[in-house]
Amino acid sequence: MTPFAFASALLALGIELILRNGRLHVWPARAYKHLSDAERDFIHAHRAELKALAAAKALPETTVVWQPPTEAAIEPPTPEPPCPYCGRVPCIGPTHHAYDVLHYDDPEHVERRRKAATAEMLVGLRRARYEDPYVR
Ligand SMILES: [Zn+2]
Repeated sequence: MTPFAFASALLALGIELILRNGRLHVWPARAYKHLSDAERDFIHAHRAELKALAAAKALPETTVVWQPPTEAAIEPPTPEPPCPYCGRVPCIGPTHHAYDVLHYDDPEHVERRRKAATAEMLVGLRRARYEDPYVR
């Protein structure tokens, strides 16, 4: 790669190589730490040519605003799905006055009602068998 092609490639990213007080600087300066080792090595190996390019203003000023590489690997946290019964995030919870109504089809609630109804039925059967069924 020629120094010109190298500088052009950086320019396309919004990174300029500028000459200030006879020293070669990467602009914006905070982009430097994001350069790859190969890019830094190239700058070190071709410092004189890059300085000459910068001094000659051979390249136009960048029109691209350099952006630090985003941490794209970090996905935004997936939102918690709403409660399938009350439709709220988070669930309204058992202290809410409408909890039992909204959670009527919750298998846990269905099971609790079934057990309660079965217990009531067994009490009725026992009473019918051993006691006067008309006593309430
Ligand atoms: Zn809920």
